[in-house]
Amino acid sequence: MKLLLQGHDERYTVEQSLLNLFPGELPVYEPILPGDDSWAVVTLREEDDCCHVTTELRWQGRQTSHREVLPLSGTEYAREGQRRHAVGACFFLAAQAVSGVRPPWGMLTGVRPDKPATAALAAGRTPEETRAWMERFYYVSPDRAALAVETASAALRASRRLERRDIAVYVGIPFCPTRCAYCSFVSQSVEKSFDLVPPYVEALVEEIHSGGGMARALNLRCRTFYMGGGTPTTLTAGQLDRVLTALEDAFDLQDCEELTVEAGRPDTITAEKLAVLKSHGITRISVNPQTMEDAVLRAIGRRHTAREIEHALDLAAAYGFPHVNMDLIAGLPEDTAAGFRRSLDRCLEFETDNVTIHTLALKKGSRILTEGLSVPGPEEVAQMLDYAAPMLRERGYAPYYLYRQKYMSGSFENIGWTRPGAECWYNIDIMSELCSILSFGAGGSTKMVEGGRIQRVFNHKYPAEYTQRPEKWRANQNAFAEFYEHV
Ligand code: SF4
Repeated sequence: MKLLLQGHDERYTVEQSLLNLFPGELPVYEPILPGDDSWAVVTLREEDDCCHVTTELRWQGRQTSHREVLPLSGTEYAREGQRRHAVGACFFLAAQAVSGVRPPWGMLTGVRPDKPATAALAAGRTPEETRAWMERFYYVSPDRAALAVETASAALRASRRLERRDIAVYVGIPFCPTRCAYCSFVSQSVEKSFDLVPPYVEALVEEIHSGGGMARALNLRCRTFYMGGGTPTTLTAGQLDRVLTALEDAFDLQDCEELTVEAGRPDTITAEKLAVLKSHGITRISVNPQTMEDAVLRAIGRRHTAREIEHALDLAAAYGFPHVNMDLIAGLPEDTAAGFRRSLDRCLEFETDNVTIHTLALKKGSRILTEGLSVPGPEEVAQMLDYAAPMLRERGYAPYYLYRQKYMSGSFENIGWTRPGAECWYNIDIMSELCSILSFGAGGSTKMVEGGRIQRVFNHKYPAEYTQRPEKWRANQNAFAEFYEHV
C-alpha cells in the first residue's frame, strides 16, 4: 500500500496497523498516481492545542475518509505520545472500515497488549474503568479488554513481591531432538550436533560460576530460576546434574521462590533425568505436547506419539514436582477445531496446575513457511481459543500472563493459565520487565532493569561460537556489573 504521511513521520505506528489489518500489504513510499487502488494519505496538523488527523484510504475499490481530533497537553514528551496515538487511531479506524477486519486487540500491535492496562491500574484506575478505557481508547474487544485487566492485575501482584536488587536467572540449552515445523529458533538438532553438547556444558558451567560470583559481589538476590531452550532435557542426566550443581554452587538460592526446567519434548524425558531434577529441588517442569493428535505431531516433525506424552506426564506425576505446566498450540498444521478440543480435553485429565495456550506464529525460516505446510485459518483458530478459555475457567484456571508475537494467526495471543497460587513468577517478571534477568548460554539475552532504565546485552547465538569465544559473555557480565555499580 502506498503511504503518504503529511505533517508527521509516524511511520512505525501506521505500518504496524497496515500489517495488522491488511496482511500481505507492504508499506511503499512512492507517489500516489491516478488509478492506484491501494494507498493512504495520513495528515496531521495542530490548531488550538489539538491535533487534527485525517486519513484518506483506498483499497480494493473501496475508499473511506476518517478524522480524529485529540487535545494535546503536558510535556513535549507526553504530547509526542498523544500525536502518535491520534495518527495510529485515525489510520486504524479508516483501515478497519475498509478492510472489515476487527482485530481482537484493536489498534494494539505490540508484544504486550496488557501493558496499558497495567499502567492504568497502577495509576489508580479501577479494573472496570481500565476495561472500558481499553475498549474506548484502543478499540480492544470486550473479552480481550477483560483479559488484559486480569493479567495486568497479576503483573501488579508480581511487582509487589520484588525488591530492588532482585533478579531472575536464565540458563539456555539450545539443543532439541529434532526441529519442529513451526520453529525458527537457532536450536540445533542433537542428532546433527551431538559433539557440540559436552563442550557447551563445560562452557556453560564456567559462565554460571563467573556470573554467580558477580551476583554475590553485587549483592543481588536470585528470585526465580528458569532453564529453557531448546529442550534442556536433551542433556543427559549427568549433564543436567552438572549444570544444576554449578547453579547451586554459584548462587545463593535461599530466597529463590521457584526453579523451573522445560522438559518440553516428551521423548527426552526419562526417570533418571526427572530424578536429577527432583534431587536439585526443581519446583516446576514444563512438558509441552503442543497437540495430542498423532497426525498433527507427525506434521510438525515430532517423532513421538500422544501416548508417549501421556507416559511422560505419568512419570512426571510420579516424581511429585510441586507444579507442572503443559503447552498447547492453536493453529498447527493438520489440526482442526475438533482436534484441538480433543487435545485440550486430554491434557486437562492430567490436572496440571499450569496450562499455556499458544497461538501459532508463522516464523521466517520455519518449515511451515519454507515447505508451505497448510495451517488452519484465523476463524478456525478463533474457534480453538473460544473453546479453551471457558473450558479452562470452568476447570479452575485463570489467565495470569499474556504476550503476542509477530505474524500470529488471527492476531490473537499466547496466554499462561494457572490455578490459584501456582503462577510461574518468572514468566511475569520477564514479560513485564519487572526485574533484571541474568542469562547464561548461547543466545542468552541479559536484560538490566532498574528505575525505568533498561539495557540489554546478548551472548553469541550459536553453541559453537558461544563455546569458542567466552570473551563475549565475559564482556556482557562486565556490562551487567557496571550497570549495577551505578544504581
Ligand atoms: S522444541 Fe521448541 S525450540 Fe525445539 S525445535 Fe521444537 S519449537 Fe524449536
